[in-house]
Amino acid sequence: MKSSHVIGTIICLSLILITAGCTDSTDTPSETTSEQNTPTTTAQNTYTPSGQNLTVHFLDVGQGDSILIEYSNKALLIDAGESDQGQVVTSYLQDYGISTLDYIVATHPHSDHIGGMDDVLNNFQVEHFVDSGYPHTSKTYENMLTSIDQKDIPFEVVKAGQTINFDPAVDIEVLNPASTYSDDLNENSVVLKVTYGETSFLLMGDAGLETEEHIMEAGYDVDSDILKVGHHASTSGSGPTFVSTVSPDISIIEVGTENSYGHPHSEILKRLHEASTVYRTDLDGTIVVTTDGSTYTVMTENFGTTSSGNGAYSSMVSTTEESETTSSTESSVYVTDLNLQEEWIQISNIGSSPVSLDGWEIKDEGSKHTYTFPSYTLNAGSTVTVFTGKGADSAAELYWQLDDPILNNDRDTAYLYDDSGNLISKLERWRIC
Ligand SMILES: [Zn+2]
Repeated sequence: MKSSHVIGTIICLSLILITAGCTDSTDTPSETTSEQNTPTTTAQNTYTPSGQNLTVHFLDVGQGDSILIEYSNKALLIDAGESDQGQVVTSYLQDYGISTLDYIVATHPHSDHIGGMDDVLNNFQVEHFVDSGYPHTSKTYENMLTSIDQKDIPFEVVKAGQTINFDPAVDIEVLNPASTYSDDLNENSVVLKVTYGETSFLLMGDAGLETEEHIMEAGYDVDSDILKVGHHASTSGSGPTFVSTVSPDISIIEVGTENSYGHPHSEILKRLHEASTVYRTDLDGTIVVTTDGSTYTVMTENFGTTSSGNGAYSSMVSTTEESETTSSTESSVYVTDLNLQEEWIQISNIGSSPVSLDGWEIKDEGSKHTYTFPSYTLNAGSTVTVFTGKGADSAAELYWQLDDPILNNDRDTAYLYDDSGNLISKLERWRIC
């Protein structure tokens, strides 16, 4: 894909997690986890590229897992896919300007999680290597240990109840492996709960029902906004009680196209779909969640396609880490904000070239209303706010000129189409309470 702004590959989706005046939130964090500024409780201005965002990337590595967590110039990598994906992971990290990994976590020694580790270890300075500690006799695992040893990387085995000291503002709690190992490698996966402000991620590795029961019995607060589904959404995990206890808003499945395992399993998919919005790396490509600790945005590489092109990476880089966009020369326009109460939609061009929006359209959920852009060019790095009401157009503000409010204050979506009718971006917001 050559020009990301003309292809409907980017979905922007954001949620209002906590809004002022909510009396009942299911997502109140269980404890104070943050020493930095308290996240704001309003949903406005969620697009803060220069602020302290936590960004979690669920890399499309085919059938396997790889997750990158970035915060404040620090990076933590969880798994690295199969060996043939090592270079994919390495390039992805390098594209973000990462040269040092503060932590690597290997959830467990199966090749679809640690196969690519060799490439990663050879290309990055690694400060800490965290492992489940459960021995495995595979050549891949042995080679990985040898490499870690040769490079003198501190090797740390974690257990449930410990924390990973990534950054004081980001709470990373280890929920598994338990004090006694299971006989099943998957069930010894390092399971992490990552909490930043009011946003939480539960990263299950390949853990299944045994672990799910274990961590619920142990009394861990598994309630999370974003669930990285265990074991590629096979029937070995994601039990009904667990899914309802986690109550995710977003479920993310790392899974390969037409894999031989039948992942994700339809029964598990149905359960996750009923509980949450589901993203899958086989359909969506790489999935990036960015949070300021109060609200979060989900972006995906693809939209509605099973192809695994990587043309959208540069725009994803631009949207999530503006400070590291030196290599992006493509324009990229997308919906960056939607205010249901104040009735406006923000469209940003995060690329480096101006983009003509002549004839582009904004539609709401169900295409009940359509706004057609007049002759208008959105400059590189600029944002335009489209108000649904009446007013005089200017460079930064456009008016739909409608008499009455149109956006549903509880839940609505703004869709952006180019002049050929291609869906370019969408952003959905809703209230939890
Ligand atoms: Zn796996």
